[in-house]
Amino acid sequence: MATIGFIGLGNMGGPMAANLVKAGHQVQVFDLSEVAVDKAVIAGATASNSAVAAVKGAQFVISMLPAGQHVEGLYISGDQPLFDAVEQGVLIIDSSTIDSETAKRVASLGAARGIDFIDAPVSGGVGAATAGTLAFMVGATESLFDKAKPILEGMGIKIFRAGDSGAGQIAKCCNNMMLAIQMAGVSEALNMGVINGLDPKVLSEIMKQSSGNNWPLQVYNPFPNVMPDVPSSKGYQGGFAVDLMYKDLGLAMDLSQQCGAPTPMGAAARSLYTLHRSKGTGALDFSSILKLYQAD
Ligand code: NAD
Repeated sequence: MATIGFIGLGNMGGPMAANLVKAGHQVQVFDLSEVAVDKAVIAGATASNSAVAAVKGAQFVISMLPAGQHVEGLYISGDQPLFDAVEQGVLIIDSSTIDSETAKRVASLGAARGIDFIDAPVSGGVGAATAGTLAFMVGATESLFDKAKPILEGMGIKIFRAGDSGAGQIAKCCNNMMLAIQMAGVSEALNMGVINGLDPKVLSEIMKQSSGNNWPLQVYNPFPNVMPDVPSSKGYQGGFAVDLMYKDLGLAMDLSQQCGAPTPMGAAARSLYTLHRSKGTGALDFSSILKLYQAD
């Protein structure tokens, strides 16, 4: 069993830290939100009053923060950078969704100081984070991947090595661009069916058993009360914020600009989410894109 410093206890990080406790690890947690820390303590983690305190004595450090600037701030450019505080031989696993270039830059600054830093973003949403069934897409050397795997298995069941440093973030970027396209597509189709008098539950089931089947239809239906326990049935609270999907689509557009890959569907999804977010929906779950299609 390992001592793990865990930074960032939001919708995803909170349940992930709780699962590491269940797996028998000593988990030292920190978040800027006291409420988030309190919840992790109830789950059996140890509270720390700073990120530096959370990594003291830790063999592994995991971060689950909103965006690239938070990750850079935590490890390199903040008031108390963790690269100055971590123990010798530590493995840092960043599971935040950030751009691949930042992940590679932080990893190489770490490597120059003998600190191992890998990217390991996740997929599966809050449901999988809570159930411990996340998919991890890792960017690391084979030996660092092998070292991280037993820890990641405490939080997920599908652990992939996408390639070397930064490759996990590329995989995540491709995945989330496709997810946004699918969520908008499902919303568009359901809305049209409902306008024509269909029951959204019946239409969802038909499409799920037909060639239109996809992940939102299986586990994350955007139409309220089609599925229990998903954000759409809880006023679009919790889950994966529109702000975060907007960020991820920005990462996808930046990547397509850098490499020249055509992404017309991704660009359309980015426009839809930009329009949706401009109506003040940033904190709602991303399945609320359905509202954009509905008449007021
Ligand atoms: P969230 O906003 O719920 O949580 C982020 C947490 O980080 C907050 O509790 C915040 O207080 C904390 N934080 C921010 N800066 C900090 C700092 N400097 N030190 C300590 N704590 C700090 O976000 P989330 O939904 O948990 O997502 C986290 C990451 O995972 C994002 O990059 C997101 O894109 C990605 N992700 C989210 C989901 C999802 O379904 N929510 C799924 C896959 C990936």
